[in-house]
Amino acid sequence: MSAFNVAKFGGTSVANFEAMSRCAEIIENNPETRLVVSSACSGVTNILVSLANGVKNDNERLELIEKLRAIHVAILSQLNDATSIEPRINALIEKVATLSEVACIDVTAKLTDHLVACGERMSTHIFAQLMRERGIDAVRFDIRQVLRTDSTYGKAEPNLEQTRTLAEQNLIPLCKKHVVITQGFIGADIDGETTTLGRGGSDYSAALIAEAVEASGLEIWTDVPGIYTTDPRIAPNARPIPEISFSEASEMANFGAKILHPSTLLPALRHQIPVFVGSSKAPQEGGTWVRQTVESAPLFRALALRNNQTMVTLRNPKMFQAYGFLADVFTILAKHKISVDLITTSEVSVSLTLDQTDTSGKAPELPLDVKKELEELCIVEVKQDLSLIALIGNKMSEKKGSAKAVFGTLEEFNLRMICYGASPHNLCFLLDSDVAKEAVKRLHIDLFE
Ligand code: ADP
Ligand code: ASP
Ligand code: MG
Repeated sequence: MSAFNVAKFGGTSVANFEAMSRCAEIIENNPETRLVVSSACSGVTNILVSLANGVKNDNERLELIEKLRAIHVAILSQLNDATSIEPRINALIEKVATLSEVACIDVTAKLTDHLVACGERMSTHIFAQLMRERGIDAVRFDIRQVLRTDSTYGKAEPNLEQTRTLAEQNLIPLCKKHVVITQGFIGADIDGETTTLGRGGSDYSAALIAEAVEASGLEIWTDVPGIYTTDPRIAPNARPIPEISFSEASEMANFGAKILHPSTLLPALRHQIPVFVGSSKAPQEGGTWVRQTVESAPLFRALALRNNQTMVTLRNPKMFQAYGFLADVFTILAKHKISVDLITTSEVSVSLTLDQTDTSGKAPELPLDVKKELEELCIVEVKQDLSLIALIGNKMSEKKGSAKAVFGTLEEFNLRMICYGASPHNLCFLLDSDVAKEAVKRLHIDLFE
């Protein structure tokens, strides 16, 4: 294991000159931090995603590009000497402008990845220069030379072996000499084409890179001092959790707690890398440690909310006491590479939710050809505008009364789907999006406050 610490800074942490300077201070305070993974400046990826979806109105498109330029120029203007990086930022903005025009003619996932990757490519130029101006020997490194993925644009899968080999060749030697500033979120496939890991993917990048360099620690610096009992924006009395196990935190991330990308903890768990989550605005407030083993295993640990859920219900009266229906359904889904998230069944129907985490951020759709094929088997109903709430805890299905506490609180809500007992760590249910935040608030009051 190397003595490297990997520190990741999210969008709000690098939103402007002051925020970036606070990150620099955090890096300076820990000499073991040799590798820094940065997101795009706050708001930038959202603008890039809009452009990638094709903004046909010229004025609107140019306005978005000017907004993008303004975010970066504001930081450049506060540097002592931006002359070396200004042309690079300008070149990237020009690239965005050109690709945005192409996106008006044809939106593709490949083009989207090229376009949205420009955010992290810009922020890291600026971050590295800011560090150098503070007297740190910092270099910017293009992570596409190391983070090798497949070609699933928008939600690429990393190739761990190749990433490790490339890190050994290209990255570790560099970290021994300099503090390396690199991009989260982006990678490249075998042909060198740019890919992305899905929205919020910088956390996952940081963990993958930490694994590849065998880091001794991974720090996720964000805008809240740790992982809370639920999103503090929804429940004002949510409180930070000082220590949480990998499995509990993974479930939280999986079920939508935006604080961590769903896959972040997989590499950390594989290599037993302790993860710290803290606020770059207030590092003195401490944060959350995510570890393999922790002292407490409370019945209720946290609540997570995931929006934009799509539920597919497949009904077939002939399914009653028959066999083979589910196998047929899953054969069709597998053939079309449709990934299923939750599932419940009854005698004559099966309901499932579709997996979703790609860069577009849209609710997943059941493609028309898949729907048609399923309709040959059964009646297909697709429902969107749903949200999933997950209660994360320990041994909930073994403890008497825990379901009563939850469903008592949710009495007035129309629950569309309930999954309970398959995992000792979660109980989750689907409900209409417009009432989901209220349900989280009430559950938080009754179970955590
Ligand atoms: P970054 O840009 O640093 O990656 P994100 O916006 O992706 O930051 O994630 C941080 C946000 O996650 C917080 O501001 C908070 O609103 C939200 N969040 C959701 N669930 C939780 C939770 N359980 N604990 C803390 N923050 C949470
Ligand atoms: N910039 C990307 C996003 O906003 C990745 C990240 O910040 O984690 O989704
Ligand atoms: Mg994030």
